[in-house]
Amino acid sequence: MKKCNNCLLPETHETIQYDSLGNCNVCNQHTFKNEVIDWNSKKKELDNLIDKYRGKYDYDCIVPFSGGKDSTWTLYYLIKEYKLNPLVVRFDHGFMRPNLEKNIKNLSRKLGFDMINFTPNWKIVQKLMLRSFLDKGDFCWHCHTGIFSYPMWISIEKEIPLIFWGEKSSEYSSYFSYDDDEEVDEKRFDRYINLGITSEDMYFRLDEEFDMKRLKPYTYPPKEKLKKLNVRSVCLGSYISWDVKTQSNIISKELGWTGDEVENVPPEYNYEKIECYMQGVRDYIKYLKRGYSRPSHLVALDLRNKRITKERAKELINLYEGKKPKSLDLFLKFIGLNEKEFYEVVKNHLISPNQMNIDRGNAKLTHDFHHWNTEGDSNRDESKKIFDEWKDQIKTFGK
Ligand SMILES: [Zn+2]
Repeated sequence: MKKCNNCLLPETHETIQYDSLGNCNVCNQHTFKNEVIDWNSKKKELDNLIDKYRGKYDYDCIVPFSGGKDSTWTLYYLIKEYKLNPLVVRFDHGFMRPNLEKNIKNLSRKLGFDMINFTPNWKIVQKLMLRSFLDKGDFCWHCHTGIFSYPMWISIEKEIPLIFWGEKSSEYSSYFSYDDDEEVDEKRFDRYINLGITSEDMYFRLDEEFDMKRLKPYTYPPKEKLKKLNVRSVCLGSYISWDVKTQSNIISKELGWTGDEVENVPPEYNYEKIECYMQGVRDYIKYLKRGYSRPSHLVALDLRNKRITKERAKELINLYEGKKPKSLDLFLKFIGLNEKEFYEVVKNHLISPNQMNIDRGNAKLTHDFHHWNTEGDSNRDESKKIFDEWKDQIKTFGK
């Protein structure tokens, strides 16, 4: 596969393009971020934005929050730098890990803030995971749509019009370029969050099994309602220069935030994606489909920042990428498929020119594996029926 000369990202990376020197557009955006953007004036824009909203509502802003490094940094920064009183909103995707919960408890006591936690109906989550996995080769639809929709509903219900998200998507992809003012709105939601499936589409894909009302947590609120409240939903990363490594160090030192072991992630990146015990499966599927996964993504960031040599980067990719994670067993129980069916689905979503490689051995078991909740199997007969129907459809209509 073709790879970026600078960061090694392959041609199967979403939105990637290479220039005449063989460098990718994400690398070029990174240069733009560091050399062209005037971060001092961006910071002043942030001051002005906050001045406009501070003290005028029950809370100064909403911070959608997972407990991972980016949302923790966002929360820390807004409280420390601006003394804001945010309402923290957490959408629980169902796979929170023990260390994450500990981090959140520590954080809430050290910083002090009000927090809402929302846990959606597991029975619906299971169906959504299976359906989006079959149709898109990506089971995270419920999580990504929920994370981005649910806080917007809270904004409307509680009349808190300012929402702060973390990093910009242009850190990692080119759905938006770094000079776009990336508003976290419905346009962005449709372009890059919901896999092209709105909740209404999902309702039909699930054969109308659940009333539309049940899918509300995954539905983006109507434009008129958001407009009426004058909602601004922005990335903190539009106003301050985002640097994951430095920020993770600061929250560790100042708040006692701790990283964790993650399946198929080199230990030196223990701050990455610690919030979900299905992360290993997500990354594994990505590897099978696209021929690369999280280690490539992490060393690419370091290569852009000139913090690692290409030799070491290649070594880490080779050591950690594409091993079969233990979490796969759990995932299969939760959605009711077997391993053979799993590979059949993934194969249907391969990104050309990658060829699926399932011979990379097994990933190391993480220290907390035995503490992950394993309750909540799917009904195997039901899942098998849905799988068989999917297969027939593929045969008749193709992908
Ligand atoms: Zn690159």
